[in-house]
Amino acid sequence: MAHRLIVIGGDAAGMSAASQARRRRGRDDLEIVVFERGHFTSYSACGIPYWISGLVPDPEALIARDPEVFRREHAMDVRMRHEVTTIDLERREVVAQNLEGGGEVRERFDDLMYATGAVPVKPPWAVTDAHGVFGMQTLDDGAALRDWLDADPQPRRAVVIGGGYIGVEMAEAMIQRGLSVTLVEAGEQPMSTVDSDMGELVADAMRGLGITIRGSLPVTGLEEHNGRVSAVVTEEGSIPADVVVLGLGVRPNTTLAEAAGLPLGPTGAIRVDRRMRVPGFPGIWAAGDCVETLHRVSGLPVHVPLGTHANKQGRVAGINIGGGYATFTGVIGTAVTKVCDLEVGRTGLRERDAKAAGFEFVSVIAESTNRAGYYPGSRPMTVKLIAERPSGRLLGAQIVGWSEAAKRIDTLAVALWNGMTVDDMTQLDLGYAPPYAPVWDPVLIAARKAVDALAALDR
Ligand SMILES: Cc1cc2nc3c(=O)[nH]c(=O)nc-3n(C[C@H](O)[C@H](O)[C@H](O)COP(=O)(O)OP(=O)(O)OC[C@H]3O[C@@H](n4cnc5c(N)ncnc54)[C@H](O)[C@@H]3O)c2cc1C
Repeated sequence: MAHRLIVIGGDAAGMSAASQARRRRGRDDLEIVVFERGHFTSYSACGIPYWISGLVPDPEALIARDPEVFRREHAMDVRMRHEVTTIDLERREVVAQNLEGGGEVRERFDDLMYATGAVPVKPPWAVTDAHGVFGMQTLDDGAALRDWLDADPQPRRAVVIGGGYIGVEMAEAMIQRGLSVTLVEAGEQPMSTVDSDMGELVADAMRGLGITIRGSLPVTGLEEHNGRVSAVVTEEGSIPADVVVLGLGVRPNTTLAEAAGLPLGPTGAIRVDRRMRVPGFPGIWAAGDCVETLHRVSGLPVHVPLGTHANKQGRVAGINIGGGYATFTGVIGTAVTKVCDLEVGRTGLRERDAKAAGFEFVSVIAESTNRAGYYPGSRPMTVKLIAERPSGRLLGAQIVGWSEAAKRIDTLAVALWNGMTVDDMTQLDLGYAPPYAPVWDPVLIAARKAVDALAALDR
């Protein structure tokens, strides 16, 4: 009997793992069965906001490989609309429900790849039968929202609850579709993945687009009329809404894992080792939004649900399942997004993370421009650096600015990954020409400012 891999979840982590395992072990050596409860495999959830806005007209463009390609070209038994309901570790079997009414199936495994992703956070007040309320995690969620926005009567007023990057991207998408948009946030302002001084710049840009931002305003309920959502209730009254998007973050989808007795870490996500094995459970692997990982700067376990990690972790798991050797060595929290033309990048620790991890640090903000001041299209760029005191080691960085801002964070991410000090960074040989940077790149200006701040404190 061929060795058998069962994969639960047919997106980034699951299909990366399955593909890598197949590359290393042929169809006679390894049988692969994938269960996916949705309608799509290997899709880009990251592209959903751009499909909602209309920038990407065709949802097919978000699908890297459909189930038929996996079946035909990679000899995988991909079972769509099958939801795994039980993992029986003793019998090494999973039970799956055919969601199209086809009953229950039981399949044995030698290796099990757990890649169920995350689920949108939904507080009790958001649990409703009213139509028009959407969490956003899978392409099916995106399709449901698109259908609602296109249906009669067409929604005109959107309320996004929560201003994380998904909330911000969805708010932008709906304003681009011509809806009036209010973003309600319990914190002071949206974009809490950056410090509040940087988040304020994002909030200003959102207001500039016509998005109403209601900060420091907890939501307490939803109102409905004739089975449709009609308003979002807050401590300061109701905000009328024809469509509500929940952007309250996600939590790891661990229901099945918990029921099977797999270990969860302090973040509530599944614990794995650096080869993506679930410790103490031979042949059980997990990757993607359902697992926690090591933050290489704080040294703490973190849950960072991003596609970039899901793909890498799935690949690592698949190489190992296929008999090779690969490791995933942690994250530093690099992420980028945008609000129309305003770009936002972050890496490493925010001030509050650095405090919580017990670091002494300085933080500086440097104002500069993306291009030489005289060059057409020169726009402001704000760089914030957080550096350990007294060593000067970079702990975190954030950038908000116009074109060329977001991807500049990668320079800082590489510096952080390699443990550089801000002093080392002032010597970096970065590219310069007037269309791309001022003669002193914003990254170098910020590093110099951090060096000065450290020196002033230790004089
Ligand atoms: C709107 C949006 C924008 C984003 N933008 C970015 C970005 O710009 N950059 C970035 O790095 N990341 C981004 N992300 C995050 C990224 O999409 C996720 O981190 C990534 O998809 C996680 O991959 P995954 O395979 O772990 O989980 P998922 O992609 O969630 O896949 C899990 C799959 O498992 C299936 N499943 C769950 N339970 C079961 C079960 N019991 N049985 C069968 N199937 C099951 C689900 O249907 C799902 O298809 C974005 C996400 C969203 C929603």
